[in-house]
Amino acid sequence: MSLVAIVGRPNVGKSTLFNRLVGMRQAIVDDEAGVTRDRHYGRCEWCGNEFSVVDTGGYTSNSDDVFEQAIRSQVQIAIEEADLVLFMVEAATGVTDYDSEIADLLRRSRKPVVLCVNKVDSGEKQYDAYQFYSLGLVELYSISAANGSGTGDLLDAVVAALPRDAAPDPADALQDLPRVAIVGKPNVGKSSLVNALLGKERNIVTPVAGTTRDSIATHYNKFGHEFMLVDTAGIRRKAKVHEDLEFYSVMRSIRAIENSDVCIMMIDATTGMEAQDMNIFNLIVRNRKACILVVNKWDLFIKDTNTMKEYTEGLRRRIAPFDDVPIIFTSVVKMQRIQDVLQAVAEVYANYSTKIPTARLNEALLPIIEQTPPPAWKGKYVKVKYVTQLPTKFPAFAFFCNLPQYIKDPYKRFLENQLRENFNLTGCPVQIFCRKK
Ligand code: GDP
Ligand code: GDP
Repeated sequence: MSLVAIVGRPNVGKSTLFNRLVGMRQAIVDDEAGVTRDRHYGRCEWCGNEFSVVDTGGYTSNSDDVFEQAIRSQVQIAIEEADLVLFMVEAATGVTDYDSEIADLLRRSRKPVVLCVNKVDSGEKQYDAYQFYSLGLVELYSISAANGSGTGDLLDAVVAALPRDAAPDPADALQDLPRVAIVGKPNVGKSSLVNALLGKERNIVTPVAGTTRDSIATHYNKFGHEFMLVDTAGIRRKAKVHEDLEFYSVMRSIRAIENSDVCIMMIDATTGMEAQDMNIFNLIVRNRKACILVVNKWDLFIKDTNTMKEYTEGLRRRIAPFDDVPIIFTSVVKMQRIQDVLQAVAEVYANYSTKIPTARLNEALLPIIEQTPPPAWKGKYVKVKYVTQLPTKFPAFAFFCNLPQYIKDPYKRFLENQLRENFNLTGCPVQIFCRKK
């Protein structure tokens, strides 16, 4: 999946454009419960091309002193991590010093850049847009993010400039292996885990087709476990300057998560699941990837007899409602429970790729639904006739019924819980659709 980052000064209209791009698709596919929409990260689809969009403005701190530096780093990170940078300026203000500075960074980067001049709400304002040719970026698109004009041409240009996904080589047996990503904020122990897993063999690095840029997957095949570890290069290539920036770890995580089937989400035992960890966890859920939680640096945590149990319960409350996830306490430096991590990855991948026969689903669920039917809505009774698993990559189920629109989120959650109780879906997000027979 290609990644597009929207950069530019505050107030030029980045989040307005973001909402427009992501909203178009959202309206079509948003038939899901439990996942709140991310205000800064989403998918856009244009003429059959799908890509991810990040609104960098969402990650800027508001305090004035760190502000300029922060945007400069964000542009740099966007250049490093995104496939295309959408640079937005505002017609009426003209070219500011700041715009020139950002344009400078972008010109030197050789990254595909699309310049868009926003707030061109009417024909007269078009004239204001031309001055931005002085930024020295090749093409310029005038738009109004607010009313949508010009966004079609802009999207055509974005799609045309995106790198094409190389088709996977069908002869490559490695293509069928589970793709595993290790994600988490800086310093939780990701590189240490990669090193522990790969040891000296880590130079056996296989470039895999079907990824959009220099992302690298490593073939792991030891102790009876075989999978592709994705984006290991990204983990090891450390850019200390960016360590503190949440934006950096988000951009990194997006890339790794989108490329994976299973995510090993690492947190630091001594700090617990903080807001930044939750943001990454939510990226995994939103992308509907399988997941295990690894609580690392357990050696540093002061324990008594109940600690692990209490810690686990606390974590589950924190990540609810998607709390049916394996939690493993490791010390990577002491090589403790690394095997358990591998075991858990294999298990959740098996759950993730399982296809439950329709007969078994109906045997298990229809009696339960009979017992506890969906609540009547405006005097109408909802009758679920049967359920079947959809041929999607992650577990998704369609419940066929007479009045699907009357089945609300709480009942969908009930159905999801029943699925989890009757079948092993640990570590997997589950999607529920209600459809008319
Ligand atoms: P950001 O800080 O770059 O994310 O900017 P926002 O998307 O929050 O927009 C800043 C302000 O500009 C808001 O008041 C928007 O309503 C307004 N705005 C955004 N796009 C347009 C546009 O195309 N035309 C006009 N006139 N206003 C716009
Ligand atoms: P990354 O930024 O997530 O890749 O984290 P690193 O693997 O670079 O680890 C950050 C720091 O934590 C390093 O100094 C590691 O030696 C240390 N570290 C990693 N795992 C453990 C652990 O299990 N216990 C302790 N005490 N330190 C650890």
